[in-house]
Amino acid sequence: MRNKRIRLIQEGVDGEGPVIYWMNRDQRADDNWALLLSQDFAIRHKRKFFVVFCFTPIYLQASYRAYHFMLSNFKEVESKLSLLNIPFILLEGEASSALPQFIHKSKASTLFTDFNPLRIKKEWLDQLKRNINIPIYEVDAHNIVPCWEASPKKEYSAHTFRPKILKKIADFLISFPPLKFHPFNEDSISSKISPESLLRKYKYLKQEIPKFLQKPGYVSGMEQLQRFIHTKLHLYNEYRNDPTKDCLSDLSPFLHFGQISSQRVALTINEYAKNNNKVKAQSDIFLEELIIRKELADNFCFYTPDYDSLNGLPDWGQKTLNEHREDKREFLYSLENLEKSNTHDPLWNACQKDMIFYGKLHGWLRMYWAKKILEWSRSPEEALKNAIYLNDAYEIDGRDPNGYTGIAWSIGGLHDRPWPERKVFGKVRYMNYKGAERKFHVKQYIDEIIATAINDQH
Ligand SMILES: Cc1cc2nc3c(=O)[nH]c(=O)nc-3n(C[C@H](O)[C@H](O)[C@H](O)COP(=O)(O)OP(=O)(O)OC[C@H]3O[C@@H](n4cnc5c(N)ncnc54)[C@H](O)[C@@H]3O)c2cc1C
Repeated sequence: MRNKRIRLIQEGVDGEGPVIYWMNRDQRADDNWALLLSQDFAIRHKRKFFVVFCFTPIYLQASYRAYHFMLSNFKEVESKLSLLNIPFILLEGEASSALPQFIHKSKASTLFTDFNPLRIKKEWLDQLKRNINIPIYEVDAHNIVPCWEASPKKEYSAHTFRPKILKKIADFLISFPPLKFHPFNEDSISSKISPESLLRKYKYLKQEIPKFLQKPGYVSGMEQLQRFIHTKLHLYNEYRNDPTKDCLSDLSPFLHFGQISSQRVALTINEYAKNNNKVKAQSDIFLEELIIRKELADNFCFYTPDYDSLNGLPDWGQKTLNEHREDKREFLYSLENLEKSNTHDPLWNACQKDMIFYGKLHGWLRMYWAKKILEWSRSPEEALKNAIYLNDAYEIDGRDPNGYTGIAWSIGGLHDRPWPERKVFGKVRYMNYKGAERKFHVKQYIDEIIATAINDQH
């Protein structure tokens, strides 16, 4: 049977040279379908096999912290692959220019890459197709149910998406085969560029590393998963909306960079829940976030080319925001004021500081944070632009379909329903400080963040 994770995106002339896996979104040697399927292809055709990563020094709003988290993982990837006789080659420059050169020089016969629904990857692929004429295959190694298999169209909400995923998940939530020793790579080729040298070479501004405590990489991500399962999962249902309780998984930075696979996370959680009846309900709620919400975000970005603009919002969201364009805003804050946590709202300021210090804001607070940006901006366009900039620059897990979707949910009612109409928001769901106080101890949260800020200055 045809493997539904792979799709041919360019036909071409298939030569005798090496098979290349252009690693992009799924930056791991373990549990990676793109790597497994491209190696399998190379072995069946008795070809050499290389893994290539193209380092792009400017990528959306990524800042030093994101590059640091990403590049620090490559030693682990390289050493795991090298044990299996698979070279990991770091190229400098955009894939659209660096990769054709490498492909021509190595006389590569076939290119594989992992799937990413963001526009930038599609643009790279379009440029690449103009420059190379070998077959290109794309493998969805990020979603459990491949994005194009889950649904052929943009879904209205989790309610319409969930049954489609549940119908197919058993076919895809399967165990991974091992990556093999590659028998056809006789001469060794290695990367001439080290990840550290790239970090030094590009003088990124704001060179601080946030206090997100976990090290990057598969090993660290899997340790984090074990800690979550054993110390926090039982609290997840009751306290997941309380930022003072520290009971989320903190896996999003690892998942965003593809340093761990959500399929492995789901398999591990299911295995644990099978033997621990008490966490069954909790694990179902966690898996709803990890699978339904996360894969719905890929569905949105894949089928909505302007996922980061007003046009990407549902019709009712655009209409209601347009109708309230001229409403008087009580407070207006520039991007600079927002970035410096300089607003009248101590909870919002604490959220912004939290994002800057830790590089990962709590999920419930992200909604509050983005909704306030709508309330205090001149227009919904400005709100979207500023929220996306701050999210992408400061969150380690930023620049992700989850981020564009979460911001569109907060500011424009995506995947939500209309609520009673009010100023500025129209029918988009509103959130306020009082609502936060009903959910958790707001003052405790603010005090903790301020204490961190003061300690940080000493
Ligand atoms: C305004 C806003 C901005 C956001 N920006 C990002 C972002 O840049 N990157 C990002 O990964 N997530 C983003 N999210 C979604 C969510 O807040 C984070 O995924 C979550 O807080 C990450 O922390 P965790 O791994 O500890 O979450 P957990 O609660 O432990 O969840 C486990 C995993 O499930 C997935 N998940 C959880 N909540 C959501 C959700 N609402 N939507 C989609 N997937 C979810 C994530 O992959 C997460 O890592 C945003 C949400 C909003 C409202």
